[in-house]
Amino acid sequence: MKIAYVTSEIFPYAKTGGLGDVAGSLPIELSNLGAEVKLFMPGYTTITKKEFDLHSLPELGEINIRIADRDHVIHVFTSTLPNSTVPVYFVDCPYYFGRYEIYTSDPDEDERFILFSKSVIEIIQRLKWSPDIIHCNEWQTGLIPIYLKGNYAWDRLFEKTKTVFTIHNIAYQGKFPKESIAKAEIQHDFLINSGVCEYFGEMNFLKTAILTADAINTVSETYAQELLTTESGAGMEQFLEIRKNDFCGILNGVDYSIWNPEFDHFIPHKYSSRDLSNKMKNKRILLQRFNLPYRKNIPVIGMISRLVEQKGFDLISEGVNDLMKLNARWVILGNGNSKYEKLIKTIVKKYPKKISACFSYNEELAHLIKAGADIFLMPSRYEPCGLNQIYSLKYGTVPVVRKTGGLADTVQDWNESIAKGKETGTGFSFSEYNVLSLVQTLRRTLNMFEKKSIWAKIQLNGMRKDFSWKKSADKYVLLYEKAVSKIKRVN
Ligand code: ADP
Repeated sequence: MKIAYVTSEIFPYAKTGGLGDVAGSLPIELSNLGAEVKLFMPGYTTITKKEFDLHSLPELGEINIRIADRDHVIHVFTSTLPNSTVPVYFVDCPYYFGRYEIYTSDPDEDERFILFSKSVIEIIQRLKWSPDIIHCNEWQTGLIPIYLKGNYAWDRLFEKTKTVFTIHNIAYQGKFPKESIAKAEIQHDFLINSGVCEYFGEMNFLKTAILTADAINTVSETYAQELLTTESGAGMEQFLEIRKNDFCGILNGVDYSIWNPEFDHFIPHKYSSRDLSNKMKNKRILLQRFNLPYRKNIPVIGMISRLVEQKGFDLISEGVNDLMKLNARWVILGNGNSKYEKLIKTIVKKYPKKISACFSYNEELAHLIKAGADIFLMPSRYEPCGLNQIYSLKYGTVPVVRKTGGLADTVQDWNESIAKGKETGTGFSFSEYNVLSLVQTLRRTLNMFEKKSIWAKIQLNGMRKDFSWKKSADKYVLLYEKAVSKIKRVN
């Protein structure tokens, strides 16, 4: 099977969150399963030729893409995804991708990804490669299905091509002023006139993708169910309902060649489930890095996160007095919204001996926190899949999570497992999104931390879990096969 995997971020080239990790690992697993996979992403100027061994592809020539009455010439660079044979094609257009960040709030943000989506199709044409599936991710690639149905329907190359669209987070819909529809120059009067691109008077890339892709999925089974409800669907539930037969949840997997304390080159002291004594050494180094005193028996609660509304920082702020009374130290690594940065800074200022934070994007520190913390906290309001809690399980860092989306699918509450007469729990979870539930759950967690043999059991239960891509990649292959076997494209 031939798969074009299209995404706005791929680790190690560019990453802001889980999408980057997924795009850097799922294609390798698909390729191991025998698929011919090609990756496509924007050539952000931070992706340098020297660091990533990029080669130009002069044989593809210069490609002209017209957006909003302006012609752009794009070039294509290529490289091979590390530890694989999967080729990556980068759309080089400094006018749009030479910005200070991967995602911007510039007024032409829509144009950046209209250009990207069109470019990917044009590159595939020039490669004279006929993919069975174009796998699109997030709103940034959301126009590809409609372009194939309209602008490029004439091209026999795409005669059998089907599209799969993955929703990684419903909150990011690609909403723009209605003029954006004209900028996109979609040649499909019927679909445009039936309003597939429009939602409440705005252009909505996500809605367009939901209504025009051949198959749609999201990144966990629970989140898929949640997205069909008014409470969590962010307005898209009605469109997902229409596509219910073509919509499913597939849990993200993880790449254990990167996220495993046995081989992790970022952490100073490697360890495994056979012997966790080195974890303590990482804890000592972690606390030094965060300028907090080390005490073997005082647990460290770690958080690594984009600082956005979804991640539960308002609960921490609201419950700060109770939370800071707990016998624990806190380390936080995050970047994003300045509102949450300020909020955390205020707490750090008030409780400098209990909590410390670093406000940057730091891959190495993220690995050290996973290795050195005792507890990993994710009190998310919602969480499509969440990778951090899955990584933490492998590092013997017990997750405490709100039972929502992928968190519910990957962390088993210790007490609930005991209630069922089994000692299978891997962490602690709470259902209600409120301070009381958070504080009570952390108290419960800290009680168990004191009971060393039980704690060791919970750690080992987590470390033995296997969330590698194999199972989920098989499910993607089934999804692709289902899409390919569809006779007629959905219009
Ligand atoms: P989301 O996709 O919502 O950001 P996930 O838990 O799925 O959340 O994935 C987050 C990924 O991004 C993890 O690999 C995590 O380590 C990484 N990450 C998030 N914030 C930072 C940061 N400030 N520094 C380093 N890595 C980060």
